[in-house]
Amino acid sequence: MNYFTTTNKHSIATLEQAVTRALSPDGGLYMPERLPRLPKAFLHNTTSMTLQDMAYAIGAFAFNGDVPPDVLHDIVFEALDFIIPLVKTASGRYVLELFHGPTMAFKDVGTRFMSGLLDYYRTRHPEWRPLNVLVPTSGDTGGAVANSFRAKPGVNVFVLYPHGAVNEIQRSQFATLGGNVKAIEVSGSFDDCKSLVEEAFLDPQLNDAMRLTSATSINYARLVPQMFYYFWAYAQLVSQHVDTNNLVFAVPCSNLGNLTSGLMAQKMGLPVKRFISVENQNNIFYNYVKTGVFTPKPTQYSIAPALDSGCPTNFGRIVELLGSHENVCRHIHAYSYDDDQIVETILKTYHEEEYLLDPHTAVAYRALQDDLQPGEVGIALGTAHPAKLRPLMEGIINKPITLPQKLSKPLQRNLQVIKMNNGFSAFKNLLLSNQ
Ligand SMILES: *Cc1c(COP(=O)(O)O)cnc(C)c1O
Repeated sequence: MNYFTTTNKHSIATLEQAVTRALSPDGGLYMPERLPRLPKAFLHNTTSMTLQDMAYAIGAFAFNGDVPPDVLHDIVFEALDFIIPLVKTASGRYVLELFHGPTMAFKDVGTRFMSGLLDYYRTRHPEWRPLNVLVPTSGDTGGAVANSFRAKPGVNVFVLYPHGAVNEIQRSQFATLGGNVKAIEVSGSFDDCKSLVEEAFLDPQLNDAMRLTSATSINYARLVPQMFYYFWAYAQLVSQHVDTNNLVFAVPCSNLGNLTSGLMAQKMGLPVKRFISVENQNNIFYNYVKTGVFTPKPTQYSIAPALDSGCPTNFGRIVELLGSHENVCRHIHAYSYDDDQIVETILKTYHEEEYLLDPHTAVAYRALQDDLQPGEVGIALGTAHPAKLRPLMEGIINKPITLPQKLSKPLQRNLQVIKMNNGFSAFKNLLLSNQ
C-alpha cells in the first residue's frame, strides 16, 4: 500500500520509508492511502479473542499485506504482553488502563510496536545504516522509547530532557540504561529540547552523516498499534453485554496521536458515537474546535506534563481524516481544564469513588462527567499510572503511595547522563561523535 503525506498528495512512500523517515522531506505527516473497513463479522467475533489476537487481526487489515503475517504476529505478541483492563468506577464511568506496560504509560504500546517493526526492516537489509532516534521528552516519551529500543542492534536513541524538569522516577527509566540509549540533560526548557531536535532534522550535514528519525507520534508506526486498544475496549463491553450503540471515548490530548488513532479505528469500522478531546491549559485544539482557527502558542507548564504541548503535531492528520472543521465538530467535543480543576477531580474521585486518577487520566475522566448524556457509555483513556508522578500525587491526596516494582527498580540503577549546554552546535557535535 502507498503512503502519501499531509503536505503533498502526490509524494508517495512505502510503509518502510514512512516509518524510517517519520517526517517527509517537506515536513509532511505520512497517511495511508486507504484504511480498510473491517468486516462486520469481525466485530461480532471479537468477544472470544485475546488482546493479542485482536491486535494481530486488525494490524493485518491496517497494513494490508505490507508486513508479512508471521512477522506481524511476533511484533504484536511481544509489544502487547501486558494487561489492559477496562475498569468500571463507582459512578458507572469506565477507565481503560493503558498503563500496565514496562514504563507504566500508554506510549509503551506504540513505541514497542515501532521497535519491532524497525527490527524487521533491519534484518531485511544487510547494509543497514544505524538509525538514530532523537527524542525530546517531558517525561513519558523518553522512558517508553528508551525501554523499547534498549539493546536493539542498529538503533541508537538520544533522549533530550530539560534540566530539573523531569521527576526522578521518570528520569530513571531512560537515564540509567546506557549502551545504545544516551540521556542528554539540556540546560534549557522542554521547548528548547524540541527545537534542538527539530533543527537536527533540518540540518543537511547531519542528515548526510547519519540517519535520523523520530519515535514521537509523528511516526505512523506508533498510530496503528494505538488503534488496537480502542477495539479491545469495545470487545470488553460487548462481552459484558453492555449496550455499545452510544460509545464515547475521552482522550487526554497533547500531540493528538492517541486521538488520531481513535479516529482511524472509527474509520476502520469501530462504532464510536463521538470522541472527546481533553487538554490542560495548553488548549490549542480546543480553541480550534471552538473557532475554526488553529493557533500554536508557547507551551505552558502544568501538573500534567505529558499534556504540555503548544503545537499539537498530529493536527494535520486529524484534518486529513475528517476533512473539514464542521466534520471535526461533529465527531469531537473539546474540553480543557486547568491545574486546579485537575486537582479537584483527583480528590473528588479518590474520596467519592476510591479510584486514584493520575493528572492526565483525570482530565479525560472529568470530561466524561461534563459531556456524557443519558444512555451513553463513556470510556476515559487512562494514560499513566498515578505513581509515575508520586511526589505530586502524594501532595494532592496527602497520603503515601507505594511504587510498583516496575517503577522502583530503575531508581536503584546509576544515572548515566550527558550534560549539555542548550545550543545547536553542541548538540550536533555530540551526535556526530556518538554514532
Ligand atoms: C503522551 C501522553 C499523552 C498525550 O498523548 P498524545 O498522543 O500526544 O495526544 C497523554 N497522557 C500521557 C500520560 C502521555 O504520556
